[in-house]
Amino acid sequence: MNKKIKIGSLLVTLSIIGYLILLNFPNFLFANHHRFKNFDIYSDKKIPIEIEQVLVDVLKRLENSELYESTDKFSIYFCNTKWRLSLLTRNPNVGGIVNQGISNNVFIRESEIEKNKIVCPTKDQEIALIKERPLSYFIAHEITHSLQTKVERFMHITTSKYIVEGYADYIGKSTSFKYDKYLNDFLQNDVTMNPKSSGLYNKYHLFIAYLIEKKGMSFKEIVNLNMKMEEIENELKNENTTKVKLNVGL
Ligand SMILES: [Zn+2]
Repeated sequence: MNKKIKIGSLLVTLSIIGYLILLNFPNFLFANHHRFKNFDIYSDKKIPIEIEQVLVDVLKRLENSELYESTDKFSIYFCNTKWRLSLLTRNPNVGGIVNQGISNNVFIRESEIEKNKIVCPTKDQEIALIKERPLSYFIAHEITHSLQTKVERFMHITTSKYIVEGYADYIGKSTSFKYDKYLNDFLQNDVTMNPKSSGLYNKYHLFIAYLIEKKGMSFKEIVNLNMKMEEIENELKNENTTKVKLNVGL
């Protein structure tokens, strides 16, 4: 191999290793730290005391997960500056991210902690469905991804997206979720049920809620069974058609 190529590939390898280390140990990039209950919070801006109310709400959500244990510890990094968010998530528009399988650190975009909300990447706009997606939802959603590594380290690669994201939303929104509302939206083909055009995981969320609440499955059972989305879709539609027929019969 020519010397230049050797040096080039060595530099690329070192850069990748360096980046993976950074994702695991980014503390030096954050000047502010606050410890509360199970959480170590880091931020590039002063951390308001209201973070504690937000974290109490996050815990309430996480307690609905079979994967959560009260001894679990979480590190959350608020990236209020764009370069920091881009560096650690590779996506300046993301709400939050966990580099699942590489590190359990949670990175969250610019937020208004006092108002329990994240700042929308589009200027002068609010994020979609803001009432059911406060900052505490985003944190709980991402932490659930880190908890999923207890089942499988690289779950986002090995498991269907609807299971990975649907369960993270099911736990993230567990204190505000209304099954009948989501079912109705699904049957009416509401835009919120189209993950591609809306960017929302409501459809996946409904499918996981159906498997857990109506079929009595655990998350681990859902992962092992790995049902096709079409099967769940058909079951939900058929069940509802039967109900409608019964109502008409009455
Ligand atoms: Zn997610």
